[in-house]
Amino acid sequence: MIAAATDENIRNAAKIIAAGGLVAFPTETVYGLGADAMNPIAAAKIFEVKNRPFFDPLIVHIPDMSWVGRLAADIHARAAELMKAFWPGPLTIVVKKNGTVPDILTAGLDTVALRMPSHPVALALLRYAGTPVAAPSANPFGYLSPTTAGHVEAQLGGSIDMILDGGPCSVGIESTIIRVDVSGITLLRAGGTPVEAIESVAGKISTAENSPAPQAPGQLPYHYSPHTPVKIIEDISEAVQPDSGLLSLYRPEDVKKFRSVEVLSEKGDLTEAAAGFFNCLHNLDAAGCGIIYALKLPEEGLGRAIMERLRKAAAKPI
Ligand code: AMP
Ligand code: MG
Repeated sequence: MIAAATDENIRNAAKIIAAGGLVAFPTETVYGLGADAMNPIAAAKIFEVKNRPFFDPLIVHIPDMSWVGRLAADIHARAAELMKAFWPGPLTIVVKKNGTVPDILTAGLDTVALRMPSHPVALALLRYAGTPVAAPSANPFGYLSPTTAGHVEAQLGGSIDMILDGGPCSVGIESTIIRVDVSGITLLRAGGTPVEAIESVAGKISTAENSPAPQAPGQLPYHYSPHTPVKIIEDISEAVQPDSGLLSLYRPEDVKKFRSVEVLSEKGDLTEAAAGFFNCLHNLDAAGCGIIYALKLPEEGLGRAIMERLRKAAAKPI
């Protein structure tokens, strides 16, 4: 089921996708569950396997710029500028779609979300498949995202055709999603490309909190949740329940009271913290704790994306 990402296995994976099957594959953000984006029946299987609601549109992954013109109706100059600055990489750009894009990918919206990933295995797979690949995270809808092939196998192993193993994901959290249209640039989801980096190219961007039509999973009431309840705390003294787990940026002094502790970055580096974030939560979820306490992180750089995910995880009803 898990296959090392050799050239031969990537070619086989591409054949599976071209034939309408499902392949989990590594990207720099998280592992994706890929299907031929131009084949609505193949794309429908993604929703079925993930138990994902059809109102939640999929990101379309492309290997080169030629596909932008083949999928988008028109490209705003600012979108083109951002593609040039951040692709390939963890930035998804929502643009007006053209008539060739199947409605199932876009939940009936007149826009499509495009991304060119930077992971060499993902790019090779897209090139060999010869078609854009729709791919959300390879996990059941609402659960922790997978950052290793083992995470995918544990959650979806029985129901997909192949898992390409390219090692742990380097960025570790999903792409940042922005929409670019005549009204400007709107952040729909914080993610692997820091907002500060986008603003250094494009100037101030607005956030979807102020936009009338929320459209990203980060805007659903809860998401990214482990089975164990999560509580965000500002100080370790707030962790009062016995048998608890702790997720922390730094290693705190007193860890004896916890059943299990996961440190995101010994040196407090937020990029390193993002890379290990989901794996740390997978570990805490497996440790049999009654609750996972998460110590607040600074909301700058990738800390903003991590905190967005922690708030969604903590919002799950117990
Ligand atoms: P993921 O579940 O990580 O694959 O992210 C997919 C998310 O991209 C969806 O939940 C949407 O919120 C966002 N997205 C995809 N297509 C569109 C679109 N056309 N307009 C707005 N957001 C989109
Ligand atoms: Mg997801």
